[in-house]
Amino acid sequence: MPEVYSKALGSTLEVNRLFGHLKGKEPGPTVIFFGGIHGNEPAGIFALDEVLQQLRSKNIAIKGEFFAVAGNLSALQKSVRFHQEDLNRIWKPERIAQLGDKNSLESDDAKEMQQLMELLNQLFKTTRPPYYFIDIHTTSGETDPFIVVNDSLLNRKFVSNYPLPTILGIEEYLTGAMLSYINELGYVSFGYESGQHDHTMAIEKSIDFINYTLALIGVVSVDETSLALLKDKVANSCKEPHTFYEIYYQHKIGPQDHFNMLPGFVNFQKVPKDKPLAINGQGVIKTTKPRQLFMPLYQKKGSEGFYFIREIPRFFLWLSKWLRKIHADHVLTLLPGLKWIDKEKSALMVDRKVARFMAKPVFHLLGYRARFFDKEHLIIRSRERNSKEKEYIDEKWYS
Ligand SMILES: [Zn+2]
Repeated sequence: MPEVYSKALGSTLEVNRLFGHLKGKEPGPTVIFFGGIHGNEPAGIFALDEVLQQLRSKNIAIKGEFFAVAGNLSALQKSVRFHQEDLNRIWKPERIAQLGDKNSLESDDAKEMQQLMELLNQLFKTTRPPYYFIDIHTTSGETDPFIVVNDSLLNRKFVSNYPLPTILGIEEYLTGAMLSYINELGYVSFGYESGQHDHTMAIEKSIDFINYTLALIGVVSVDETSLALLKDKVANSCKEPHTFYEIYYQHKIGPQDHFNMLPGFVNFQKVPKDKPLAINGQGVIKTTKPRQLFMPLYQKKGSEGFYFIREIPRFFLWLSKWLRKIHADHVLTLLPGLKWIDKEKSALMVDRKVARFMAKPVFHLLGYRARFFDKEHLIIRSRERNSKEKEYIDEKWYS
C-alpha cells in the first residue's frame, strides 16, 4: 500500500486512494474530504486519519456518509508537490474530455486525475445529496488558517458558518482547480488551508476543523453547546479577522523568471508602499501602494508568486446577494457587446470595448466570473447557474 510520510510527526501512514469511509445507519449528508491534492501537503491525510480513528474507537454513530480521499497519491509517496504538472490546475474541460483517450500522452498527474474522476463518478452513483466537498491544503509560507471558495451564494452561505477569513473568487485566477470543477456541478465545495506544510499545528488545526464540520452538517450529532465549543476551537486557531476578502492581483511567474520571494513575509500581512517583496531576473519587485499580501510563495514549485487581497465591504456582499436573487443579470444581454456563447446560455461573450465601461466588479456583483478569451473578448460565466441550492434547504445551517 502507498506510504505517506509526515515530517511534522516523523511518522508514516499507509493509505489507499479512498482511505476512510464511514456510513451511518441513519440517513444524512455525504461529506467528502480530500487531503494531499498537492503531494507535499500530507497534513490533511494525517488529520483525517486521526479523526477517523477517534470516531471508530469511541464508537460514535454518524448520519449519512463520510469519505476521506487521498489526492496525488503517487506524489504523496515521494513528498513532492506534483510530478510533471500541478494536479490542482488541470481540471479543465479540454483535459477532462481527453481522460481515458489512449492516444493522448498523459502525465502521471493526469493519471491521478483520471482515478479521482472515476472515484467521484462512482460516489455520485452510490451516495445521496446533500454533498459537501472539502479540500484540505497547507501553504509554503507561514499562515493562520483560512478558507478559499468559488463565489456562489450557496458556498458563501455555508462557509459563513466558519469563524475564519474567507477568500472569494480565487477561481478567476486559478484555473483548473479540482474544487472549481466540482463547484460547477453545483455543490458546496471549498478549500481549507490549515497552516504551513510541515508544522504539527497544521494537522492539529485541521482536526479541529474537521470535527467542527462534521458537527455543523450533522454527520456527527452534538448539542448546541458542544457545537459552539467546536466552533470556538476553530475561531481560536486564527487571529486574522473572520471576514470575506477578494483577490485583485496575482503575480504570475514564468519558467525563466528566477522568482524569489524575499524572506519573512506571512500570509495576510499588510505591507506599506515601496516595500521590496521579491526579486526576479528583471530586478526587485516593490509595492507601489500599501497592500495586503496573500499566499507568498516559499517553495520552488508553483507559478503564482503572491497575491494582493482586500476586504469586501459588507454592503457589497449584501448587494450582490440581492442582485443575484432578483436575477439582475438577465438585463445584461440587452446591452450592446454582450451575447450568449451558445444555445444553452452557459456563458456570455463580452466585447472588451464594452467591458471597459462595465468593469469586472459589476460582473462580480451579478455573480459572473470573467476570463480572458482573446484580444477583443472576455468570457463571463455565471457562478449561480448550476447551483443545487434546493438540495440544502432542509439542512440545519441553512435556516
Ligand atoms: Zn495545496
